[in-house]
Amino acid sequence: MAEERSQTGSSSSHAPPSSVVLDGIPGSPGLAIGPAVVVDTRRPGVPHRHIVRSAADEEMGRYDEAVRVAIQGIREVADKARERATRAETSIIEAYALMIEDETLRSMVERHVRIDRQGAEWALDNAITTMVEQLRSARDPYLAERSHDIEFVGDRLLRALMVRQLPLSVVPLMVDAAILVAHDLSPAETAGLSRDRVQAIVTEVGTRTSHTAILARALEIPAVVGVRRITTLVGSGEVLVVDGSRGQVIISPSPGMVEVARSRAQRRERVSLGLRGTRDIPAATRCGTRVDLLANIELPQEAGVAIEQGAQGIGLYRTEFLYIARNEPPSEEEQYEIYRAVLERVAPLPVTLRTFDIGGDKFMSAFQAPAEMNPALGLRAVRLGLAQPELFLTQLRAMVRASVHGNLSIMVPMISSVREFRAVRELLELAKKEVDAAGYPRAAEIPLGMMVEVPAAAILARQFALDAAFFSIGTNDLVQYSLAVDRTNQELAHLASPYHPAILRLIELVIEAGRELHRPVSVCGAMASDPFAAALLIGMGIRSLSMESSSVPTLKAAIGRIGCHEAHTAAERAKDCVTAREVEAMVRTTFQAELREIVASDEE
Ligand code: PEP
Ligand code: MG
Repeated sequence: MAEERSQTGSSSSHAPPSSVVLDGIPGSPGLAIGPAVVVDTRRPGVPHRHIVRSAADEEMGRYDEAVRVAIQGIREVADKARERATRAETSIIEAYALMIEDETLRSMVERHVRIDRQGAEWALDNAITTMVEQLRSARDPYLAERSHDIEFVGDRLLRALMVRQLPLSVVPLMVDAAILVAHDLSPAETAGLSRDRVQAIVTEVGTRTSHTAILARALEIPAVVGVRRITTLVGSGEVLVVDGSRGQVIISPSPGMVEVARSRAQRRERVSLGLRGTRDIPAATRCGTRVDLLANIELPQEAGVAIEQGAQGIGLYRTEFLYIARNEPPSEEEQYEIYRAVLERVAPLPVTLRTFDIGGDKFMSAFQAPAEMNPALGLRAVRLGLAQPELFLTQLRAMVRASVHGNLSIMVPMISSVREFRAVRELLELAKKEVDAAGYPRAAEIPLGMMVEVPAAAILARQFALDAAFFSIGTNDLVQYSLAVDRTNQELAHLASPYHPAILRLIELVIEAGRELHRPVSVCGAMASDPFAAALLIGMGIRSLSMESSSVPTLKAAIGRIGCHEAHTAAERAKDCVTAREVEAMVRTTFQAELREIVASDEE
């Protein structure tokens, strides 16, 4: 439990600082120990200046100059990021440039300047506050996310207006490597960071799927997000331990804590080093049964990292991340180039592109209907695709065109009825015809499979298997929908166990259907990267797991210690358990000896 600190910045006190352990959300894996640099990314103090009417033109001139300076600044960030960022990320930055130049914003500012006779800074502050309030009052997570973008734009403009008082960039040029601590970082700020200078990132807001976390993972910078009040609890220069894999931050760690963190990092390093030599050797159990380990990715450049970590392909590419923070969906051409790059990087290994899963806890999209009472049960994923066939077809055509560049499968999220799956298949056939008519080459066969993440899909797995080429079990949503536990609610996290006997029963139904109709079955939810749960899944008959790239080496090591017979016995014994706790305890006891060393670094 997080301990409260009575005063800020104990580095200024003569008393030895007491250690504070804070829990957040794992944003990007890895461990860092170093000094904090706390940056204030919120808007600076704004001078409230009344102006004489005749000064209005001059004030608007200052505003227009600030727009020019801010655009120049943001283009510099874009140029820096362009070298390694994808087109999707640079287009986020480009979108900021457009927002800075926005005419609506300018006319709001002008009204405050000319009618209310406010100085440009004050007028801008009022205009931004109004826009942010409007977006937040919609109570739509997507619009709430956009309100951060508006704040960011306002921040750049204010800093450009007050350029004499304040440096233009909110992220200081860090000479020595340090840990960046902020309330929040925009995608543009994060994309401009470099691993040599930024040892880790800690933010007060954010979730695993927030921009900061996604980009930090892509840049391989450890990150913990959602650490409440961290900017008020830590002072620049104080030493932090940031454990991005656990989602934990220690302020002013004791020498013992630093030692534990170091040895944990070394242990992790040893595990991955130990596997470096076996990178190209597939994972297998102690008795030689092969288990395919694939990677889940959110950004295209993660594909290379996945292969370097020894993944045998991409089991899940969450393509919805291409649709974030933009006004227009990505074009067919843009998507084609991105999918092509991923397929070429991973070939000849397989890549499963999941069609967009927009909605629910993902990014409520501009393409979506007004805010829903229960977004997780609403117009999400395949439902949105079928409701907007042109949007869906654009994505399918891009995927079909990319198929010629590697080993591609397509997977559909949130399928709940056979009819829905067939409708997608028809759209895919249409996409193929359109691609053929346009004269583009494509693979003759593109397997179309489905995620099993709605209980109905698991219960009817045998019927689905007649149509679907493969199944991938999304345990994150399967747990959410089967146990009626909101996956974003931290208070209920203890109820969201994939060890729940009902979940195991649903998984079993899918495995049985796959076996009977010769359809491959894999697991791509978070359950796959828990070594104990993976042992149970292997015992149940699963031979393919897809997870975050960073977990692949650990899972490869874990699987190498698991015996098939023991795993099978554990799976049989699980059938007699009636609670998730019973199952988990039994599995942990069964594999404790084999997996102790593997998990020790995370459990000590
Ligand atoms: C899942 O639901 O388990 C899954 C892998 O999909 P996502 O986490 O993207 O919803
Ligand atoms: Mg899901």
